[in-house]
Amino acid sequence: VRAEVTAVVDGALRLVDSHCHLDDERFDEDRAEVLDRARAAGVSGLLLVGVMDGRGGHLKALALAQDLGFPVAVGIHPHEARHASAAAYDEIVGLARDGRIAAIGEIGLDFHYDLSPRAQQEQVFRQQLRLARQLGLPVIIHSRTADDETATALEQEAARELGGVIHCFTGGRPFALRALALGFSVSFSGIVAFPRAETIRDVARLVPADRLLIETDAPYLAPPPHRGKRNEPAFVTRVAEQLAELRGVGTPAIAQLTSDNAQRLFSATFGH
Ligand SMILES: [Zn+2]
Ligand SMILES: [Zn+2]
Repeated sequence: VRAEVTAVVDGALRLVDSHCHLDDERFDEDRAEVLDRARAAGVSGLLLVGVMDGRGGHLKALALAQDLGFPVAVGIHPHEARHASAAAYDEIVGLARDGRIAAIGEIGLDFHYDLSPRAQQEQVFRQQLRLARQLGLPVIIHSRTADDETATALEQEAARELGGVIHCFTGGRPFALRALALGFSVSFSGIVAFPRAETIRDVARLVPADRLLIETDAPYLAPPPHRGKRNEPAFVTRVAEQLAELRGVGTPAIAQLTSDNAQRLFSATFGH
């Protein structure tokens, strides 16, 4: 409701949700309504992220992206590193060569949940960074409780040549500065509006305007006042509002520049 009100008041919001899992089964019942609400809130485009889990988990995201005309990224999530295989890497190469993916991701390190062994996460992450370089694709980075290791891998694998984004940024200044030095963008989710996220808000003030992205990571991480419920792309307006407040500019300006940045980073058209 709040999202729709914002769109009416501002009139010309044009937002891109740069990272969402619209293929998630939690959207199976009402995906069309979710997309209607997103459009009503001014979300003109979104990037789908398909997780390769060794069981074809990304295929639904690929199919949906094609049906709906949205760009899509696929990659072996750090949680799924133990399911990585030569076939999965070959599949990424094939999809890239067919022009079906806008980025490789999400890839990275997650030492919070440790769902795959850390050494394997590192190896699979670096392998995909090398693939991205061969294929000329940007990368979408997931880093949780592993910011130093993630930044080191990016530096050692010369990720500056790839371009990419640290998605759902939850780190501090040191990680942000290392990512920015590599030419990376930083994407904020609804977490930036959580009461105790002062460290993240500090980073949200310092990221240069041309490196700023917004996302929902839906169905995860709904921002206040929806916290704890299913997240959806319409709520990316809340992220834009929070960034506007932190940076002392209008929400339409944040919407416009983050949309432009997403379009440039992913070489994709998000408008309709
Ligand atoms: Zn993630
Ligand atoms: Zn995600």
